[in-house]
Amino acid sequence: MPDFSIGVDLGGTNLRIAAISTDGQLLEKITLGVKVTLGRDHVIGEMCDAIHRLTEQYRGSGRFVGAGIGVPGIIDMETGMMRKSANLPGWSDYPVRDEIERRLGARVCLDNDAKVAALGEQWLGAGRGVDNMAMITLGTGIGGAIILNGKIFYGMNGMAGEFGHVTVEPNGVPCGCGNHGCAERYASATALVRMAREAIESGNAPALAKLASSSEEFSAKSIYDLAIQGSEDAQRIFHRFGQVLGILLAGLINVLNLNMFVVGGGVVSAWDAFAPQMFAELRERSLIYAATAPDDPMNAPLGKKEGASAQIANYARNKTIITRALLGSDAGLYGAARIPMS
Ligand SMILES: [Zn+2]
Repeated sequence: MPDFSIGVDLGGTNLRIAAISTDGQLLEKITLGVKVTLGRDHVIGEMCDAIHRLTEQYRGSGRFVGAGIGVPGIIDMETGMMRKSANLPGWSDYPVRDEIERRLGARVCLDNDAKVAALGEQWLGAGRGVDNMAMITLGTGIGGAIILNGKIFYGMNGMAGEFGHVTVEPNGVPCGCGNHGCAERYASATALVRMAREAIESGNAPALAKLASSSEEFSAKSIYDLAIQGSEDAQRIFHRFGQVLGILLAGLINVLNLNMFVVGGGVVSAWDAFAPQMFAELRERSLIYAATAPDDPMNAPLGKKEGASAQIANYARNKTIITRALLGSDAGLYGAARIPMS
């Protein structure tokens, strides 16, 4: 039996833990409804108990090589401490990695959730067999990561890949980071709802106004449903979203000339509503993209099965592929488990 590691996805609401073998087999996955509000020590205690249970269970089948933990926040890679996390108050300036390492008596790697998701997609998802890629995760904000030669590129101190805070509008909407006009203020789930509300306030979006006043939840999903039904009000919102995502990606392509850009996160299910505009912007704004785009960019082959790596790598050769993520929320678990393996 191959060795195995533990991947942990510490989200704002759930704690998910998986035992994964070095050949990429999911041995077991557990979801704990841990209340983050009960505090850091409680969450760490529950996490370590669950990791203990899993390592005991699979100890006979292979060597336990360590645990990787994906957390929402900026990590100082040297100290293993969180610098800032909006979803995990009370976790910053605490030696998270060292404390968990002490309790488990095993190697522990702490990393940003968007970075481990990218590694998961590169290992077993959309980027199988592709050595150089980046991933953009569209959620409440925008997460990002760059993978070079199969490894996460950290930059000087772990902060590389903050795509969400790249400026796309010089005098745009203020952002929590202190800047104005950041990409995530226009191309995230939160941004969709904000832009829709602004359209309603301007008085030019009767269909959206009707949706907002109905009993239905006013969310990225309901705005998407309206767009698919043919509402121009809703389509304009996704048009703007696709435009900004295209501007952001064009910049990344021009700077990095990577083989593949994987777009993930909850909003990616609205791909057909925003991708046409995104691709139009890419062709217009990046000479490199125009020169290296595949024939049918909207429909890159999605291979989740065995042998997909060779197929994807072959398709992606000398092309700039923009494609959807494949593993959903499991990408973070696989990627977190992958880190202690190397
Ligand atoms: Zn920002």
